[in-house]
Amino acid sequence: MIVIKNCRLIPELTEGFDEAKADLVIDGKYICEILPARTASYESAEVIDAQGMTLLPGFFDLHAHLMFKDQDYNASMMRGQNEYLLDCMEHAGVYLKHGYTTIRDCGNDFYTGIATKNAVNRGIVKGPHIITAGKCISPVAKGNESFGSLYLETDSPYDMLHIVRTETAKGVDFIKYMVTGAVLNEGGVPGELITTEEEIRAITSAAEKLGTYVAAHCHGTEGIKIAVKNGIRTIEHASYVDDECVELMLKRKDLIATVPTLSIAYTIYKELYEGGIMPEFVEKCKAVCASMAKSAAMCEAAGVLVGWGTDLDMQMFERFPGLEFAARNEMGQPNLQILKEATINSARIICEDHLRGTVKKGKYADLVLIDGNPDENMAVMKQLPKYVFREGSLAASN
Ligand SMILES: [Zn+2]
Repeated sequence: MIVIKNCRLIPELTEGFDEAKADLVIDGKYICEILPARTASYESAEVIDAQGMTLLPGFFDLHAHLMFKDQDYNASMMRGQNEYLLDCMEHAGVYLKHGYTTIRDCGNDFYTGIATKNAVNRGIVKGPHIITAGKCISPVAKGNESFGSLYLETDSPYDMLHIVRTETAKGVDFIKYMVTGAVLNEGGVPGELITTEEEIRAITSAAEKLGTYVAAHCHGTEGIKIAVKNGIRTIEHASYVDDECVELMLKRKDLIATVPTLSIAYTIYKELYEGGIMPEFVEKCKAVCASMAKSAAMCEAAGVLVGWGTDLDMQMFERFPGLEFAARNEMGQPNLQILKEATINSARIICEDHLRGTVKKGKYADLVLIDGNPDENMAVMKQLPKYVFREGSLAASN
């Protein structure tokens, strides 16, 4: 039994308890009581005095890539498989240290997402709760080859069932499909459509047959529209949403969500990354960041579910804690909305909100203690959380 005494709660992220300060009791993997501050029995329990620090549900990154060690993609692709897996496992630990207790890996080579998830579940390495895709399924497109064998290319709708069967047989939890081009392609136009409605329909119906769903890499307006119309479950990045996109999403309200990923573009346009970025990319990233935030605001205002993604490499994660929080804040999103996107919204998107995503009796004790009040001042997120609990165990203290 662990008692976190005298913690501050945020009402919008807490269920079934109304007071601002509490003692929270963890038994095994779960939150077993939330009591008024200083009223829990501290006998025979391990006690952590929060001293008024804010207790939040653990964070979710629905667009992670454990394999991204840094932004030197060429060196990344030169790694041998064993090295690649070790980096993924190390990155999983880094996520946990930063307060992320659930991540969804949106594409990795050699099925290392599955291996990392298994290693975490077996207790061999420390990491968050992992949900993982396998390879990035894509039409043949410029730039794919620079990621080595990460991409599995196909241009045939008839091939989709075979591909989804192969991926699910390997043990992936969902399928990642490329609907539009990527931002970081030299000379590339972010958001250019690279697939067809027929292909999208084929892959989403194949996924449905096998009891899973498709997350679509999708920046551009046209891509978002055809993705929404043809059964995609999550729109990753969602950079250029217009009114018609929102209207289409509202028609499939419970089956669709967007997962913006501001971090990666933010590191580039703020020139945090020292790797000699071409001016073309700096300008593109600035525009994409602003547009992604505007798109998220449009979706939020209309009632479309917006989640949390970073798309960030391990090096940047370690160097700049709380980067996604800072980016969304700087782009004008309100603090509480940011905190909900990182927690309960994302839990809803992966249909785990009955287990995680708020501070509630009976849910997993996936918890983060923050020194400061992020609902009032997002800058406190630039420091690592003081304590991180994953399913009732103290996973990190900083
Ligand atoms: Zn990605």
